[in-house]
Amino acid sequence: MAVTGIVVSPGIAFGQAVHISLHHQKVDYRLLPVAQIANECEKAIKATAFLTSHLQNCQSKIAADSEHFHLIDADIMLLEDEDLADELKKYITRFRFSAEVSIERVFAQHADELAQLDDPYMANRSNDVICLGKRLMSAVNGTLLWDVSKLDENSILLAEDLTPAEFATIPLNKIKGIVLKTGGLTSHTAILAKAAGIPALLSCQFDSNDINDGTALIIDAITGELHINPNEFTQQQLQQKSQQEIERRQALKQYIDVPSITIDGHSVCLLANVSSLSDVCQIQDIGAAGIGLFRTEFLLMQVDSVPNEKQQFQLYCDALHSLNGKVLTIRTFDIGADKEIPCLSQNYEDNPALGVRGIRYSLQHKTLFSTQIKAILRAANHGRIRLLFPMVNQIEELEQIFEIIDWCKQQLVDEEKGFGDINIGIMVETPAAVLNLPHLLPKLDFISIGSNDLTQYTLAADRGNPELVKDYPPVSPAMIKFIKMAVDECKAHQTKVCLCGELASDPKLISLLVGLGIDELSVNSASLLDVKAAICNGKFEMFAQQAKKALTLSHIDKLTELLS
Ligand code: PEP
Ligand code: MG
Repeated sequence: MAVTGIVVSPGIAFGQAVHISLHHQKVDYRLLPVAQIANECEKAIKATAFLTSHLQNCQSKIAADSEHFHLIDADIMLLEDEDLADELKKYITRFRFSAEVSIERVFAQHADELAQLDDPYMANRSNDVICLGKRLMSAVNGTLLWDVSKLDENSILLAEDLTPAEFATIPLNKIKGIVLKTGGLTSHTAILAKAAGIPALLSCQFDSNDINDGTALIIDAITGELHINPNEFTQQQLQQKSQQEIERRQALKQYIDVPSITIDGHSVCLLANVSSLSDVCQIQDIGAAGIGLFRTEFLLMQVDSVPNEKQQFQLYCDALHSLNGKVLTIRTFDIGADKEIPCLSQNYEDNPALGVRGIRYSLQHKTLFSTQIKAILRAANHGRIRLLFPMVNQIEELEQIFEIIDWCKQQLVDEEKGFGDINIGIMVETPAAVLNLPHLLPKLDFISIGSNDLTQYTLAADRGNPELVKDYPPVSPAMIKFIKMAVDECKAHQTKVCLCGELASDPKLISLLVGLGIDELSVNSASLLDVKAAICNGKFEMFAQQAKKALTLSHIDKLTELLS
């Protein structure tokens, strides 16, 4: 039996199912019949004991001086606290809530109290408390939420959904593939899975009743199929296909040390997108000319507090060191929308994609922003850094950014720390940013088109919503026009234009983007050699003709046909 999904990270994976459930718990909010109260109290107490003993078991396997050990300790202390048991019993008996609802309420209240405290460490604990509450709710039904000990090297993760922060907690060496029921092609979880080179299918409507933990699975993340309990014949066929894919990738390695130049001599600067220091260290192996996008917000996803200026400075210097003279484009923290940062406070918003995100968040949190800018300016003394700002729409925002940069420089002078020269650019991710380029470009050294968001805001289609696959096509007439407008404006101002959204990682679209006049492409590292091969095996003259033709087309399917 097979079900289909969207391929976000190509490859073939063989393994066994492991269901994980991270959030989205269905809870019954109806009041309990009086006769059930004692039973429900019993359930809450048993669940607490069950989770405590599981955590103690996990703790016994890790080093006593590790941070993880202390975090588990804090969770155990809370679970063993007698006040917790009393509170739960009170909610069940007095308010007649089920064990799950009582846990949800009690933990939410406790998390709120912590969040109000002045002590930033305790305020950070508030999220941990919510997580612990969710695990306890799950333990009521005898399951352990997100239990890493369930994983072995052959695991294929099955889940409803996975946020980028949750993805960051997965031990990637322990899994073969990922299948999610939700998620769109350019969601951040998809981008991370692709960069990690893990075959992944999103938006895959498998029925959890057909797949127990341990069921044999094969992900064919080339055709977009999940095979459940595959027969011998399917297994053999996919083994062969997997071998061919391995050989294809092996053959691509011939491009590692080759410059990215078309047959007729047009050079395209090919850079890599990264989200961690270890990604940066790997770019020599994939033949990138440097880093075109360092998504620094991912540095914050797994930490308890934001690294200070010195720690960030050290990290950027380490990145420069491993780049050995190649350019490092650092994007300041792009917080908001689907990128929740557990260690930072973010208010609830009805429309987070249209809310306090990107540069808006930074301008509202100036200490966070200026600390990062100072670290980057200092690191620029030690190598080639370009500074990139996310989601800038307006000249006023840019003026504020420059004021803050000047203030940071003055601080560094006063503190006798020194700083280096830096090129400054913005991400062009909204129609407003494209239309405002004539005002913005005189102040900039480069721009980088963020096609993931530019598509989302141009077509008013949520990039992470699997229902909108047709409404969020990789290329559309409106997007091509916006890219062309941005390129023309940059040429008029002699400013370099890069494109760093996932469009640049699709080998089929390279002719269009290069033909439209993009100078630099910054791509998902997993696709870099495919993209380089597309450049090296093409002619710029043909690319330009194709782009010209694409600009005349009015239908998405005609465009897709032209580019396939
Ligand atoms: C983009 O929007 O295209 C982009 C590169 O930024 P992110 O995917 O991190 O939003
Ligand atoms: Mg973006």
